[in-house]
Formats: sequence, structure tokens, C-alpha cells
Amino acid sequence: MTAWHHPVLTAYASEAAPTTAATEAYAHSPRAEEPVTYTPPWRRVCDCRCIIHHRLPRTTYNEPGCACTITCATQPLTLLAQQRGRALFLDQGGVLWHVPAMANGTWDWDNATRVDTRADVYDAGLVIGHLLRQAANVLDASID
Ligand SMILES: [Zn+2]
Ligand SMILES: [Zn+2]
Repeated sequence: MTAWHHPVLTAYASEAAPTTAATEAYAHSPRAEEPVTYTPPWRRVCDCRCIIHHRLPRTTYNEPGCACTITCATQPLTLLAQQRGRALFLDQGGVLWHVPAMANGTWDWDNATRVDTRADVYDAGLVIGHLLRQAANVLDASID
């Protein structure tokens, strides 16, 4: 900590400030970003311990016996909604799904369904679906 009180270092730190601001502006410009290889979750293979999908693609989210984790490489953009005891996520077509949470961080994929008019989270789902699609667009735009 004493080093920061050194006069030379202090001067250096204040001179460095404009450079930091310039770097941030650079980072915020989409065109300035380094190209990143991004594989959508539905083109990835399962990397969790699921016996159904291990090292296989997963594009259906209600397969009986699926034990995929919410952080599996195949899991799309997901919102954990502890208030409702479930997770909400967008499938390949941008349709909102919900999956009930079970004990110990596991998920009841057998009972995962699209959020339709019969779902108790239908109204909330309209907003959440919209926000997740926006989030997906923002995230995709920053990669292209
Ligand atoms: Zn699985
Ligand atoms: Zn998996």
C-alpha cells in the first residue's frame, strides 16, 4: 500500500486516467472488438454429467431422465427465478420455457414446458421472454 503514496506513482496514476477512458470507449465500440468464436448452445454438446446427453447435442428440453445442469454447455440463455422455484430460458426459436427446480441444484426436465397461456407465469413470462430476447440480441450483437 505504501507504494501508492510514492509521488512518482501517484503522478503516473493520474496521467493514466485519460488512457483508461480511451480504452473503455474502444471496448464499448462493437466494431473495435476482437472476433470471438461463439457456438450457440444448440450446436454444442453436453459437457455435464447427464447420462442422456453426455457429449451429445441437446435441443429438446423435456427429455425424460435428462439430468443436465443449468450450466451445461447446451443450456440456452437462462434466468434463475428462485421466487418462482424455477428457471426460465429461451429455446432455439426464441420461445420461453420454464423448468421446475428440484433439490440440490437439479432440475425437473421431465416437466419442462413452453410458457403458454395455461402457465402460472404466463403474464410474467411475456415480460421475461421479451427481456431475455433483448438480452440475447445485445449479447449476440457484441460478438458479431
Ligand atoms: Zn441432459
Ligand atoms: Zn448436459
